[in-house]
Amino acid sequence: VQSVDSKRKNLPKARVFQLFLTLVIVASSVFADTVRVDLGDQLVATLDPREDIYVASVPARGEGLLGFSRRLTGTSKNAREIGEINGGTKILKEGVRYKVPFKMLSPDLRVRTVRALFREDQALGEGWQHKARVDSELGSGESLWAIALWFTGRGENYVSLRDNLRSDIDEIPGGETVLIPARLLRPTFRALLPETSPYYLTYGKDSHGEYASYRLKRGEALYSSVVVRFNGSVFAQDVNELAQEIASRSGIRDVTDIPVDYEIKVPFELLLPEFLPAGHPRRLEYEAGLIASGQYRNAIQAKSLEGVTVILDAGHGGRDVGASFGSVWESTYVYDIAVRVKRVLEETTAARVYITTKDPGLPGIPKRDVLDGSRGHRILTSPEYAIEDSTVGLNLRWYLSNSLYRKAISNGGDSQKVVFLSIHADSLHPTLRGAMAYIPGAKWRRSSYGKSGSVYESRKEFREAPNVSFSKKHLTRSEGLSRDLGHHLIDAFHRQGLAVHEDKPVRDKIIRRRRTWIPAVLHYNLVPASVLFEVCNLANQEDRALLQTADFREKVSQTLVAGLLDYYGAPSSGGPQTAAQEPAASSSAGR
Ligand SMILES: [Zn+2]
Repeated sequence: VQSVDSKRKNLPKARVFQLFLTLVIVASSVFADTVRVDLGDQLVATLDPREDIYVASVPARGEGLLGFSRRLTGTSKNAREIGEINGGTKILKEGVRYKVPFKMLSPDLRVRTVRALFREDQALGEGWQHKARVDSELGSGESLWAIALWFTGRGENYVSLRDNLRSDIDEIPGGETVLIPARLLRPTFRALLPETSPYYLTYGKDSHGEYASYRLKRGEALYSSVVVRFNGSVFAQDVNELAQEIASRSGIRDVTDIPVDYEIKVPFELLLPEFLPAGHPRRLEYEAGLIASGQYRNAIQAKSLEGVTVILDAGHGGRDVGASFGSVWESTYVYDIAVRVKRVLEETTAARVYITTKDPGLPGIPKRDVLDGSRGHRILTSPEYAIEDSTVGLNLRWYLSNSLYRKAISNGGDSQKVVFLSIHADSLHPTLRGAMAYIPGAKWRRSSYGKSGSVYESRKEFREAPNVSFSKKHLTRSEGLSRDLGHHLIDAFHRQGLAVHEDKPVRDKIIRRRRTWIPAVLHYNLVPASVLFEVCNLANQEDRALLQTADFREKVSQTLVAGLLDYYGAPSSGGPQTAAQEPAASSSAGR
C-alpha cells in the first residue's frame, strides 16, 4: 500500500488520525513529496528528499524505549540514540509515531523497507536501477543528492552518479531511471543484486567451517576480484598469499587458470565485516561502530578557511625514505607535495598553516619533475630533530601536532577548526592505483600513551604533556570527523579526475601481515579530524610516473586544498548534511 501524502484521500478514519499524529510528531519532514509506505505491524517506511530513509512506528502497548529499539533495530543498544533522534525523548507516548533511521534498522527490516519503497526499481548485475517518482500534482523528479543519500548513504556521492550519467543534471525527472553502480551501493542494496553482480555472495559451511562463495566472472582474477574486494588486502605479499590460501581452500591448483563460474570459497575469517551475512556478530559490531561515529560530522563552516588551523605532515624523511623504487623515494615526493599544499593554503586561503618537518637543503619548491633524494629533513620540535631514527621521528610528529593543537584551541578555539593531514604515497600490489585515506578507527586506539627517554624529554612539546589520553567519546567523535574529512578529500580527487583506490578508499585501519593498526601519527594525535592521505601507489608504474611530474604534484596539492575547503564549505549542491552511515560506500574513480 503506497501512499503519497499529497494524494491522501479516502483513507479510513484510523489512518487519518495516525497520519495526523505523524504530521504533529515528524513535523520537520512533512512536505508534500514525502512518501510513506505501510509495512504492516504499525511500521511505516518513509522517503523524504531531505534526509535518509527511515521507518516510523507507534510503540506497542506497554512498550518502552528499550523494547521499541529491540523491535525495530534488533537490539536495545540503540535506545538512547533513538530517543535523541526523536527530540530527546526518554519515555515513549502511546499513539505517537517515532522514527528510526535506515542505518539502525534490523537487517530484515531494512530489506522490507527497500522492497516496499522501491517497487518499480530493478536490481541489475551492474547496480541498482532506480526510477524517479512521478507526482502529477506537485511536479515530479528527485534530486540526485537525495538519490545518492538513500542508495549509497552519502549525498556527496551525487557527483559519481552524475559522472555515470555523463550529464550535468542535478535532478532525475519523474519516470526516468538512474543506475547506482554496485560498488557505490549500501550493503543492503548490494546484497539484493542478482548473480551477475560482482558482489553476489552465497554462504555455506563445510568441514573446514563457514565460508562465502563467489563465482568468478569472465575477465576477473582471483586476487583483484576476490582478495582485494572481499578481504580488503592491498599489500602485494598479503594479496598473493591470501590468493593462494583461498585457492587451496577452493580446490584450485593453478591460480592463473581458474575457469569462469568456478566456485571460490572465502572463509568467514577472511571476509571484511560488510560482506558477512547480515546479522553476523562481527558485522553487527562493525555497523554499531559506524552508527556511533556517524553522529559526528563537521558542523563548522569556515569561508576561505578563516580561523582554521591546518597541521601538515610529510611522511618519513631524513634517514627514513619510506617506500622506494630505485631512486624514487616516497619521502622526497611527499615532502614536495606537503610544501606545495602549504603554499596553496597560504596564498589562497585564510588558514593558519603549520608543517611538522623541514628540509633546510630545499629552500623553495623545485620546478623539476624528477627530484633528487634528500635525507636532510628535520622535525620542527624545539629543539629540532634531524630524523635519525624513524620511530622517534614518528613520535615527535604527534607530540608536535598535539602541542600545536593545544595552542589552537586555547582561548576558546573550536576543536573542529583544527585538522591534521599527513601526506604519504603507498606501496601496494602493483596492479592497484590511486589515492586512499586512512583515518583513526576508535576500536584500535589506546586510551592513553606516552614515551620516555632523553630524546623526548629534551623537547619542549614533550614536556608540555608527556602523556596523552583519550575518552571513549573523544575517540568515537574523532573517527566520525576524520571519516568525514577523508571522504571530502577523496571526493575532491574524484571530481578532479585523479585516480582513487577502487575498493574502500577511506579506511579506518591498516591491515598488513594479518596485523591491524592505526599509524602512530593518527593514533596518538589529539586533533579530532586527522587523516593520513596516500596520494597514489608508488608500486604502480603509472602512478609512479605521474608522481615524478611537477604537474601531478601541483594538481594533487590544489585538490587537497579543494577538499579542505569543501569540508568547511556550505553543504554541496544544496543537500542537507544528514548523518547517514549505514556503511556508506564512498565514491571512487572507476578504472
Ligand atoms: Zn608512507
